[in-house]
Amino acid sequence: RGAAPAKVNPFAKPESLTRIYAIASGKGGVGKSSVTVNLAVAMASQGLKVGLLDADVYGHSVPAMVGIADLRPTRVEEMIMPVPAYDVKVMSIGMLKPGRQHVVAWRGPMLDRALGQMLSDVYWGDLDILLLDLPPGTGDMAISVGQQLTNAEVVVVTTPQEAAAEVAERAGTIASMLHQKVVGVVENMSWLPCPHCGPSHRIDVFGTGGGTRVAATLSERFGYDVPLLAEIPLDPRLRTGGDAGVPVVIDDPGAAASDVLAGLAKQL
Ligand code: ADP
Repeated sequence: RGAAPAKVNPFAKPESLTRIYAIASGKGGVGKSSVTVNLAVAMASQGLKVGLLDADVYGHSVPAMVGIADLRPTRVEEMIMPVPAYDVKVMSIGMLKPGRQHVVAWRGPMLDRALGQMLSDVYWGDLDILLLDLPPGTGDMAISVGQQLTNAEVVVVTTPQEAAAEVAERAGTIASMLHQKVVGVVENMSWLPCPHCGPSHRIDVFGTGGGTRVAATLSERFGYDVPLLAEIPLDPRLRTGGDAGVPVVIDDPGAAASDVLAGLAKQL
């Protein structure tokens, strides 16, 4: 028997038609994974062939958010089959671990290899869209994605808060240094519809202006327009949907957050 043929990253081929969006944030807890998951599911429900790669090595919360935390990918011959959820093909860095409770403390080269494996060893098939949930910040994984997926476009998620915006700008700048295009900014947790007076009264829980600020700073820094694509309200149904493994865009399409997320999915 000869050696197994070297596997290739199908998304790096020049003829690849898959549009790749890496979803980045400056820090954790701003809702990057929630946005990524809901975008993926909304895009699939709009008829696109969508893959979702959870590259957030610290969080890897995507499987739980789509209700597949206990499932492991199967193998067919040499290939790993992504796990389907809501018509999205899902693969998570957490699925490469021996067990769910196992903690990974990987350095750069291991992360680089893990990403390579999730691109080349996974049978993604023909995809219109590949969404990547990046770890927060400007670390090794962001650099690996920049190198292995040179055609990835980046969406930066922030909250309205000054401190979140500042680190989000840094995440966007790293993407640009890696020659990735930043296609826009999403502001999450933008306001809370007042539970007493109704949705026209917005409570600014985390202040205002973070998304606008990041979009303006990155536009100026890069010399091209980086738009503020969406402002997603705080919505308890987004959180409960994520906890229950049923993304809010499926669970409650009428929720205020679902409306904005579905609109964002159409825009990208
Ligand atoms: P990140 O990926 O940036 O660390 P997550 O997507 O895990 O953030 O979100 C952090 C927490 O905030 C989760 O419990 C999630 O359900 C909740 N959350 C995110 N966005 C919203 C929102 N718009 N409204 C209510 N809860 C939200």
